[in-house]
Amino acid sequence: MSKQGIGTRCVQAGYKPGKGEPRQIPIIQSTTFKYETSDQMGRLFDLEESGYFYTRLQNPTNDHVAAKIADLEGGVGAMLTASGQAANLFACLNICCAGDHIVSAANIYGGTFNLLGVTLQKLGIGVTFVNPDDPEETIAAAFRPETKLLFGETLSNPGVEVLDIEKFARIAHAHGVPLIVDNTFPTPVNCRPFEWGADIVTHSTTKYMDGHGVAVGGALVDSGRFDWEAHAEKFPGLCTPDASYHGLVYTKAFGKAAYITKATTHLMRDLGSIQSPQNAFYLNLGLQTLHLRVPRHCASALVVAQFLEQHPDVAWVKYPGLKGDKDYERARKYLPDGTSGVLCLGLKGGRDFDNRFMDALRLVTIETHVADCHSCILHPASHTHRQLSDAQLRAAGIDPGLMRLSIGLEDADDLIEDLKQALEAAHRG
Ligand SMILES: *Cc1c(COP(=O)(O)O)cnc(C)c1O
Repeated sequence: MSKQGIGTRCVQAGYKPGKGEPRQIPIIQSTTFKYETSDQMGRLFDLEESGYFYTRLQNPTNDHVAAKIADLEGGVGAMLTASGQAANLFACLNICCAGDHIVSAANIYGGTFNLLGVTLQKLGIGVTFVNPDDPEETIAAAFRPETKLLFGETLSNPGVEVLDIEKFARIAHAHGVPLIVDNTFPTPVNCRPFEWGADIVTHSTTKYMDGHGVAVGGALVDSGRFDWEAHAEKFPGLCTPDASYHGLVYTKAFGKAAYITKATTHLMRDLGSIQSPQNAFYLNLGLQTLHLRVPRHCASALVVAQFLEQHPDVAWVKYPGLKGDKDYERARKYLPDGTSGVLCLGLKGGRDFDNRFMDALRLVTIETHVADCHSCILHPASHTHRQLSDAQLRAAGIDPGLMRLSIGLEDADDLIEDLKQALEAAHRG
């Protein structure tokens, strides 16, 4: 049978109820699971038998939803985490330890930038940030013998720049390391990075996958395609015996699922950042309409971006779906069905004008969020980065006037009307 369409899989993948079982994925709100004999339980702890014993390691609700995300991305397996931050942390820690090094695109989400640049550094894992648009040789020069992975975002948050995934995959593979791509903004509806050579994908499911602003969560997905054994000296955690499981070797025991199995049985066991089954249930409700919502977000964002581009008060708009955007051609290649509902803009009137504009918005709300059904706006210089001066903001690559606008599922005409009246109000002072 040919592969089913993305919509069918959004609705049904990951869970097939049997006779008399619930049609919707049930919430298994239980910490533990019962066994008949001591021997059965012992075999689970040796990873010789699969089965549930404790929700920190695995839970049926989470597993069904993770299986759906793995299917949508085209991977061999996935794991849900408590947040997107935890997903990116686990993606790195699964193959990095003190003394190792990461190369990452510099334009990534601020939380991830801090995770790599501050917290992982404190754990002894070095990072070099590169401009993802630099030539291959320049990015390659950042690699060291102890480099274990290359990291980037399909669509960067907040700058909505499109990653050249094939270029990044070529550079990573030439150095014998996997490419890890955070695919939060496009979702697998608009881009499946494994099809372009990425090895591991991460998500903040808090964004479009949930889509309603109800549950913080993350996911880690394994393509199963990276050949860890071919670079065994770089990845001892996957290719040499794990003493905490009687000397089991992940690549030998789990083959293509070595990476994702280790993430569950080792990292989740020890670090415990599990998504609650209740949140996994909410996430699944979001996933079941993802294929309907994402195109609507994209269509509305494009219309709003075109409106803003023409408006005399608007200095600039960054949206990769706009002809003339520096990433337009790259978006057509990697994101032919649309990019996301997120765009950035700068106004001409200065900081006070920006604030009067945001205060006058009625439908678009001021929020530290993006990518759900409610339209919202954030001004990093006044909100998330308010402790920085304009000079410091520029040094951090943030235009002091940059506003991130996330287009929700309201009618685009109403959103345009709201933006128009708020710009007029900002002039009145
Ligand atoms: C929001 C976000 C994260 C962090 O996810 P949380 O769920 O908030 O922890 C990571 N990467 C990207 C691209 C994001 O937008």
